Amino acid sequence: MQLVIGFAIALLAGAWVYNDAQKRGSASALGWAIGTVGLLIVFLPLWLIIRPPLVTSLCAGCEKYYHGGVSFCPNCGQRLVRL
Ligand SMILES: [Zn+2]
Repeated sequence: MQLVIGFAIALLAGAWVYNDAQKRGSASALGWAIGTVGLLIVFLPLWLIIRPPLVTSLCAGCEKYYHGGVSFCPNCGQRLVRL
């Protein structure tokens, strides 16, 4: 039973790291997720230390904020301004 709970926690952490990595535009999000599920105690703290900063961009056209490595507004197609 403890093993099942431990595995569930590792899976949740892996899913969170995957989401976080994609949001931050990391090219190796899946690798980080697999590493976290397999070796939670090593990869989770490591990711929190070396993860890239959250990129926030603003569209001058529709004044919407975007996170991640997008350079053009998906809504109106204007070039985004990095904040
Ligand atoms: Zn826009």
